[in-house]
Amino acid sequence: MRTLRLILGDQLNAGHSWFTNQNEDVLYLMAEMRQETDYARHHIQKVMAFFQSMRTFAAKLEEAGHRVRYYRISDSDNPQDLIRILQNSLKEAGASRLEYQLPDEVRLDQQLKQFASETDVEVAAVDSEHFYTSRYELTEFFKGKKQLVMESFYRMMRKKHAILMQGGQPEGGQWNFDKQNRKKWKGNPAIPDPLVFNKDLSSLEEEIRGSGAEFMGNVDATAFPWPTSREESLEVLDYFCDFLLPHFGDYQDAMHDEESFLFHSRLSFSLNSKMISPKEVVDRVEKVFREGEGQVHISQAEGFIRQILGWREYMRGIYWREMPGYAEKNSLQNHNALPEFYWTGKTKMKCLKSSIDQSLSKAYAHHIQRLMVTGNFALLIQAHPDEVDAWYLGVYIDAIEWVEITNTRGMSQFADGGLLATKPYISSANYIGKMSNYCGKCPYDPKKRTGESACPFNSLYWNFLDAKREHLSGNPRMGMMYRLLDKINPEEMQKVRLRAQEIIERPDDF
Ligand code: FAD
Ligand code: SF4
Repeated sequence: MRTLRLILGDQLNAGHSWFTNQNEDVLYLMAEMRQETDYARHHIQKVMAFFQSMRTFAAKLEEAGHRVRYYRISDSDNPQDLIRILQNSLKEAGASRLEYQLPDEVRLDQQLKQFASETDVEVAAVDSEHFYTSRYELTEFFKGKKQLVMESFYRMMRKKHAILMQGGQPEGGQWNFDKQNRKKWKGNPAIPDPLVFNKDLSSLEEEIRGSGAEFMGNVDATAFPWPTSREESLEVLDYFCDFLLPHFGDYQDAMHDEESFLFHSRLSFSLNSKMISPKEVVDRVEKVFREGEGQVHISQAEGFIRQILGWREYMRGIYWREMPGYAEKNSLQNHNALPEFYWTGKTKMKCLKSSIDQSLSKAYAHHIQRLMVTGNFALLIQAHPDEVDAWYLGVYIDAIEWVEITNTRGMSQFADGGLLATKPYISSANYIGKMSNYCGKCPYDPKKRTGESACPFNSLYWNFLDAKREHLSGNPRMGMMYRLLDKINPEEMQKVRLRAQEIIERPDDF
């Protein structure tokens, strides 16, 4: 009996048990397709990174003696649609069985289930053998609980997988060193250049652009920077452990207009495409911490491991617990459009300009830029979560719905009404000024609330609290902010509202 095994673009896990033995009766199927380039308007670097990584993966499988049917985006016989590709390939191979790894997106999960229910061939789904947790482990863990607190999930994960533990207690005597991880970067310690690969992928870019799909952002295809193989992904991990991890935690929340990556790992694409596994990243960081003769402090190692063992697995669990309904959530009833400058970077606001320019040129911004600059502004102008999701799903190299929508709609836009975050992540210029050098280079005054030169974030912040009073004033974590709001005199508040209204109506003028 011949078997066709489907490998999706984000299932590049060379360590999967499928590949342990070669089998003449198994044909692996991989396909670049318009279905996947077109479900959002993606950054060109994102599509290039996925397709190049898929090609490298397919070539490695063939080298190892496996049989592979690969559809390139430019192949004239490519139907560009998953179901038709499956139908054609099953027929071509004379296969009577289809196997697939469980997809991480509801969209693909539903499509494959539907196909399985209609086809004559036998269909079986297997685990992708990537995550620490199964799809519904978080659902089980929080059964009967109203609030899904990440910290309790994270502690369970630390104990269950014996990570950074010492005699049943957390290493270093506490679970979380977050409070130590809030330093502003002022030029010291020096940041090593990011490890980039400078591959010439010009012909791939041409092929992709020739497909007719629409993209955002830009690329220098003669010097493509991202890892597109397991070997390169491991190099990025080595580089991170050798040069960046010693300061990761300290500057995790810092922002700087000349340093896009600071001490961040740039591992998200390698992880989300499954070229490397979360376990090997976490184990490696723990080993460096334990064997590194004090070079890596517990606060750095814990800060990093929390992102992967905690946040990443937590977001995956929330996704499967809440979808598909989560994609409809808009608890704050926001309906405005996202400004045009999210696609062009044309704004005078330095924090937004820096974060967006960098997103468009590098397909990357780190967590705090996503959360406290672009996400914060989108929420303050009360943009519709659909608009915000579409942008985040397109622009970043690592954007796959399971981890994009939970971070965007949930954490950043509070559209789930507080299921995931206990209060909205909003701020005035104060936080941005504290964590970055942006305000010093901005034409707007971070100290002013109203008037021509006032920082737009300031009036927007107070206006937002005022406008969303019915949704937020009962939240105990917002009590102090509402008390401060109520101290603003009515005349000043009227000016705040007018200024905010102006910005909301014409954001591209600011
Ligand atoms: P580092 O700072 O070096 O962190 C290490 C790893 O931890 C990351 O590679 C990532 O795998 C994991 N991680 C860190 N924070 C999170 C988080 N909040 N949720 C899940 N994993 C996390 N991450 C994505 O992978 N894809 C997305 O589409 C995505 N969209 C986001 C949208 C918004 C609005 C926000 C606020 C965050 C989003 N994140 C997303 C989380 C985070 O910003 C990125 O994972 C991180 O910036 C990737 O860069 P890095 O690899 O250098 O991360
Ligand atoms: Fe951003 Fe306001 Fe600071 Fe300018 S002053 S960088 S707009 S926070």
